[in-house]
Amino acid sequence: MPLRLLLLDDNLDDRLLARREIERHFPQCQTTEVGDRAGFERAAEAGFPFDVVITDFQMRWTTGLDVLKVVKAHEPELPVIMFTATGTQEIAVDAMKHGLDDYVVKSPRHYARLPVAVRTCLDRSEIRSRAIRSETRLAALLENIELGVFRMSLEGGLEEGNKAFWSMLGLMPGEYSKAPSHPLIAEVTKRLPELQATLDSAELQALSGDIGTGGRAHTVKLVRVRVNGHDAVDGIVEDITSLRRADLEIHRLNVDLEQRIAERTRQLQEANEALETFGFSVSHDMREPLRTIQGYANALKQDFSEGRMDQSAVYINRIEAVARRVDTMVSDLLEFARLSRTEIAIETVAIADAIEEVRAALHSEASHARAELRVDVPSGLLARAHRQTFAQALTNLVSNAVKFVAPGVTPVVGISAQQEGSMVRVTVADNGIGIAATAQARIFNVFERLHSEEEFPGTGIGLAIVKKGVERMGGNVGVSSAPGAGSTFQVELPAAEGSI
Ligand code: ADP
Repeated sequence: MPLRLLLLDDNLDDRLLARREIERHFPQCQTTEVGDRAGFERAAEAGFPFDVVITDFQMRWTTGLDVLKVVKAHEPELPVIMFTATGTQEIAVDAMKHGLDDYVVKSPRHYARLPVAVRTCLDRSEIRSRAIRSETRLAALLENIELGVFRMSLEGGLEEGNKAFWSMLGLMPGEYSKAPSHPLIAEVTKRLPELQATLDSAELQALSGDIGTGGRAHTVKLVRVRVNGHDAVDGIVEDITSLRRADLEIHRLNVDLEQRIAERTRQLQEANEALETFGFSVSHDMREPLRTIQGYANALKQDFSEGRMDQSAVYINRIEAVARRVDTMVSDLLEFARLSRTEIAIETVAIADAIEEVRAALHSEASHARAELRVDVPSGLLARAHRQTFAQALTNLVSNAVKFVAPGVTPVVGISAQQEGSMVRVTVADNGIGIAATAQARIFNVFERLHSEEEFPGTGIGLAIVKKGVERMGGNVGVSSAPGAGSTFQVELPAAEGSI
């Protein structure tokens, strides 16, 4: 860019000489010559669009000092050089106080210094504007970073802070009087004696409230600095709330995970133990009928060898009956095992519909026993269940209620249901033989029977199927009973949305 020069002198020859000297060194120079007040006013109105001003000291219409004041009032950074034959050292000093950049004596011998003075002024103003630019950039950066930056005296007086810093304190920029009561500043102030005494820097963490409920956490780095001859502390504050929250969340998840692992381990241990017991009772209970078959087969073999065949038909019938029983046991066991293994799809089931299914399934059994079924179930009751498993469980309960009655007693079975909070409870009550309190927990185990096959036929798996099925649907079963006073079995399942 060419040099833009404003040259003020009311002597045409002096202007010519000065211009000649400058343009010899700055060939591209665009010089605006001003010799009167009107010209100066025009330049002022235009806002002094120049890179340097050279003014004579003593002019008819003004002095160089006044020119200097006007120029600096408009453009403080615009360099002004005074060029005069009349000025004294005092004038020069006075002018310097008003911001004069250089002073050149007007004499043929000194003209050559004029371009040097211009060059020096230009270099200086370039350096100055570069410094201003980078300072502005720095200031903008400081204002816009997310780190809080502040300066404090070693005695704890807050001196300045950027936008982020004030917003971390929850204050408006400049609310110095409110800052000391903030926990972050209180924490910093506590550390100042250390910095005063020994340290050059320190780091601390400050908590403002409980971060689980809206509080914030900050780290503060403090550095002791020396500014304009006095000691101060610069601080950089970082908001680490989200980091802390993430830490807390990780911790919570870990605890949760450990709890779940412990719970899972416990469940697996229980399942293992149950499996062992199950295996034991299966092998034990299945052997019994097999031994019976073996016994009859031996008896047959012996009779055959002795030529006695009168009891053969009885033995063969018993073998057949026991074999049938083993077959039923095996298929019931398979049903039980299937329940533990297969996925069951939970859906919304109307209790009344499921009970109708049970009634249909047990029709011949119930009418054979002349049983009376009394059903009292509101039609709007809905449960979350696997329809087939639910119907199977109810069928087993009602079937037992019909079966376990004293000889000669007509079975009366009451089936009712109602909603209890978030659960639906179905009860099956009978007028049967009842169950001793000590046996009530065991009867839900596989093969657990309280009576002989002759008294009441069965395999002892029905209630195990009820328990397993209901638990897999998120429910529970229970019984209340006393010998001779009938039994009441309850099944609870989660109520479905819309259930009344
Ligand atoms: P099963 O009916 O094949 O014997 P369950 O598992 O259904 O097998 O029942 C286990 C035992 O619990 C029965 O043998 C019986 O002793 C007892 N029990 C079950 N239901 C009743 C009931 N309603 N009244 C009295 N005792 C019952």
